[in-house]
Amino acid sequence: MKITKVETFVCNARMRNWIFVKVLTDQPGLFGWGEATLEWHTRGVVATIEDLAELIVGEDPTRIEYLWQMMFRQHFWHGHGITRATAIAGIDLALWDILGKVAGQPCSKLWGGPVRDTVRTYCHLGGGKMEDFYETKADDAKRFADLARQAVASGFTAFKSMAVPPTLPIEGLQPIRAAEAAVAAMREAVGDAIDIMVDCHARPSPAMGLQFAKALEPYGLYFFEEPCWPESVEGLAAIARSVTTPIATGERVTNLAAFRDLFAARACAICQVDITHCGGLSEARRVAALAEAYRIALAPHNPQGPVSTAASLEFGFSQPSYIICETVHEDVPWRRDVVSEGFTVETQGRIVRPNTRPGLGIEINEAEVKKHSFQQELPQRVFYTDGSIGDW
Ligand SMILES: [Mg+2]
Repeated sequence: MKITKVETFVCNARMRNWIFVKVLTDQPGLFGWGEATLEWHTRGVVATIEDLAELIVGEDPTRIEYLWQMMFRQHFWHGHGITRATAIAGIDLALWDILGKVAGQPCSKLWGGPVRDTVRTYCHLGGGKMEDFYETKADDAKRFADLARQAVASGFTAFKSMAVPPTLPIEGLQPIRAAEAAVAAMREAVGDAIDIMVDCHARPSPAMGLQFAKALEPYGLYFFEEPCWPESVEGLAAIARSVTTPIATGERVTNLAAFRDLFAARACAICQVDITHCGGLSEARRVAALAEAYRIALAPHNPQGPVSTAASLEFGFSQPSYIICETVHEDVPWRRDVVSEGFTVETQGRIVRPNTRPGLGIEINEAEVKKHSFQQELPQRVFYTDGSIGDW
């Protein structure tokens, strides 16, 4: 069996352009789907996939590790830069989809699963609607409470919010109090049976991240995400040591060696490896094995498109330490028209039953995708009050 072609399909989903990757083979009707979505880097990833195709066309698609090594190690530059790690991931996911189809089994079965009956999911406030999740101001506690109630009314038992505002490297009490009021309002609105997460988007400095973590500790967050830059492993570790709230990070970490440094420093309790940014399921499985040695939980980053979600769920049904799957379901109203999925979601509780189809279990509707061609991603910029550049 040989790979004959690697195609990309770009599908504009407002905030992100989903990049679907289709790896075709010389067997009639046998192909695999992957995803390599990377907001604001769409053209770069598509071109990188073209470069990588040169390495793998003509090769046996079932030799996944061999091909992964080829894509990661050849042409001199290792594949852990974000653009190439994402491009590799898109192809890697499609190769696992092909292998599942060849075996006639869901991917999770190839890895010894399923290890659980169901996977729990959580949503973003607003279900992934950009304005609700990213643009609700931290000082609008009432809006946070309303959106929290909506999430629970939609059946979710857990949701994530961005209740920590952008701050200069050091600021006074006002942003801390605003975040505290927003989280208090959400807790008051949904009670203790619902799990609340706060994503800092790595906006704070380690000193501010620590203050936010301390202020929010009494509200029993399920996890507190990216409280400072991912480059500041010692900053993350200091925050993790100072609060009982579990610290989550890893969505911007693209390779096994960098995860080793994070885990060894005890910088997180939850690993948010992004399967579409870390070189795919092949590397994510190595990261998961390493996390297991540290008893670190897995909650992969997944605000992207439907192939990423299917891959995260297959991963979840094969990994003992997987705790929850991130989902967005209301980012664009036509999300369900683009994909047919092999798993089922129970609306009450938003838990997922395993995929019963081979591979990742998805079919992408190419005609539907073509209705939403590439558009430049909407700019999301943060400036501090003095006009200097902040982190989005
Ligand atoms: Mg995040």
